[in-house]
Amino acid sequence: MILGAPGSGKGTQGQLIAKHLGIAEVSTGELLRAAAKQGTALGLEARKYMDKGLLVPDEVILSLIREILDSPAGKRGMLMDGFPRTVPQAEAVDRFLAGRKERVSLVLVLEVPEDELVRRLLARAAKEGRADDNLESIQQRLEVYHRQTAPLVAYYERQGVVRRVPGAGSVEEIQQRVRKAVGGAA
Ligand code: ADP
Repeated sequence: MILGAPGSGKGTQGQLIAKHLGIAEVSTGELLRAAAKQGTALGLEARKYMDKGLLVPDEVILSLIREILDSPAGKRGMLMDGFPRTVPQAEAVDRFLAGRKERVSLVLVLEVPEDELVRRLLARAAKEGRADDNLESIQQRLEVYHRQTAPLVAYYERQGVVRRVPGAGSVEEIQQRVRKAVGGAA
């Protein structure tokens, strides 16, 4: 798993390290945005929350995740970007994996100072025009991250699987740190 605040570079670094490891990468945010664009029931439901910077309800995400983990790529092992985002999501995936005698092997935590996060998200807003990259939604997402997602670091620390990576610098520099952090573990 790759964990970090909005703007921390989860997507960029997650894709690079998954490619390096030769495993599939899944971004729940990307999946939800694609579903919203296609206008599926799941996508339309998710959009109500995403545009406001709020989390999509756990049960919506968990049905998506179960489907992914049951796919051939999911059975081989994969890197998840943007999931889990709440303690109940993490507990649910632990139970699911335990049923297959598997577990989360590694959680990379990308650490980036708050002012740098806001700067990056506003720059991305100007470039990509994502519906949730406006100042109000950015502030909401950061607050949601601190309140609902950051507690996952302690949750996974108890499992001994956390590797913290400083997430400021160039994409290449950070990727080198990520590779070092992953080492032979994954
Ligand atoms: P960011 O980390 O920049 O907010 P993401 O693409 O990871 O970008 O997520 C965008 C939005 O998608 C979130 O604000 C949330 O509404 C929704 N989302 C993505 N993953 C989850 C998840 N695991 N649980 C609940 N909502 C999610």
